Amino acid sequence: MTIYTGPVFEMARTQFDIIADHLDIPSDERDRIFYPKRALAVSCPIHRDDGTTCVFQGYRVQHHLTLGPTKGGTRFSAKLDIGEVAALAIWMSWKCALMGLPYGGAKGGVTVDPLSLSPRELEAISRRYMQEMIPFVGPHTDIMAPDMGTNEQVMAWFMDTYSMHRGHTVTEIVTGKPVSSGGTYGRREATGRGIVYLSEVALDRLKINPRQANVVIQGFGNVGGFAASIFHERGFKVLGVSDHTAAYFDPQGLDIPALLVFAQKNGVLKGFSSELVIDPREMLLQQCDVLVPAAVERVITGDNAGKLRCRVLAEGANGPTTPDADRILDQRRNEVFVIPDILCNAGGVVVSYFEWVQDLQQFFWRENEVNERLEQVLGRAFAAVMERAEQHNISHRTAAMAVGVEKVRDAKRTRGLFP
Ligand code: NAD
Repeated sequence: MTIYTGPVFEMARTQFDIIADHLDIPSDERDRIFYPKRALAVSCPIHRDDGTTCVFQGYRVQHHLTLGPTKGGTRFSAKLDIGEVAALAIWMSWKCALMGLPYGGAKGGVTVDPLSLSPRELEAISRRYMQEMIPFVGPHTDIMAPDMGTNEQVMAWFMDTYSMHRGHTVTEIVTGKPVSSGGTYGRREATGRGIVYLSEVALDRLKINPRQANVVIQGFGNVGGFAASIFHERGFKVLGVSDHTAAYFDPQGLDIPALLVFAQKNGVLKGFSSELVIDPREMLLQQCDVLVPAAVERVITGDNAGKLRCRVLAEGANGPTTPDADRILDQRRNEVFVIPDILCNAGGVVVSYFEWVQDLQQFFWRENEVNERLEQVLGRAFAAVMERAEQHNISHRTAAMAVGVEKVRDAKRTRGLFP
């Protein structure tokens, strides 16, 4: 019996079982590595603007504490449940281990559609959620960050709420804060920057000139929006973009600066153009050099994996590809080069780590130092995944997860089981 259920959690379990078989992890050791250490569920009441009271459910899951504090984002989403949060926490663990960061994975969130809240209500739910989490988190226990539906402003409210409680400013309790409140240069763009950097490294391996490459991106939020902007800056032609309201495609390349301005002003992409509209499912199947799913889980499935016409699948979102799709992509290894999520979107947590280190030391780095170190960490992890995949003739996802899971397993083995 477990409280963690649902398709996203099942997907994390299936992926883990594949890795556990590959690593020959004995059955009695598997649950200790896989199941989250602890979880907290809270009710968060707030006053609505119309004077009524409303209660939202909040969660935080800490996967393991073996390598240091836990680290992970906070998701505000209408469909969030504890199974999804647990899966995201588990993926964070493999990601942090793959990147060599001294963290276990965590994730949290509130079951709420942030677009249905006024700015005052958003602040109220953010502060109340953080208040409820105070006994559970801390700069050396569990450090929060943004994820879908949250942003720098929400992180600033989290940090302020925690600091008010402690009686002094504790910037190191969250990452992804504005630079003006103890954040680091480069964090806002970090996930997108990492995706672009790793796509270039992959194209290079495939002998495709990135300056002549094109890209299709699903999701136009923090990850997809910055990825689009940086791809465009670096000379890629961005053929397609989408969000939950609209999808656009132009074989000549979209006007990314205009789309960014439009999204900034209107909050969504809907209304930008009537000529460039494409069915969002069709957009994923267009021929391109790089396809970046950067929105939600489970969009590359058994139904569409065989029809993808991209050369590189750069997974910006967490869990965009189902195990069914993985089986198909495994058969298509020579056609589709997968950069798995725990590698591809790790730029965010790597620069979050840099932010935490800077906050703890109160010693801040320049933006180019942040970006250079980010590329070093991602480049090392990419090389480790490629080496592992080639040595064992396994997919990039299996290789990436094997490196991450193995590190967690080894740390647990050497520390032993208390008492
Ligand atoms: P966000 O809330 O800033 O943006 C999400 C975007 O996805 C929005 O443009 C939204 O409209 C779009 N979207 C939602 N449902 C969609 C659908 N069905 N089809 C197309 N578009 C849809 O969130 P984000 O921070 O950019 O996160 C996106 C993904 O990246 C998530 O899987 C998240 O876990 C992952 N991620 C985020 C970070 C980070 O630093 N923010 C780091 C690593 C991974």
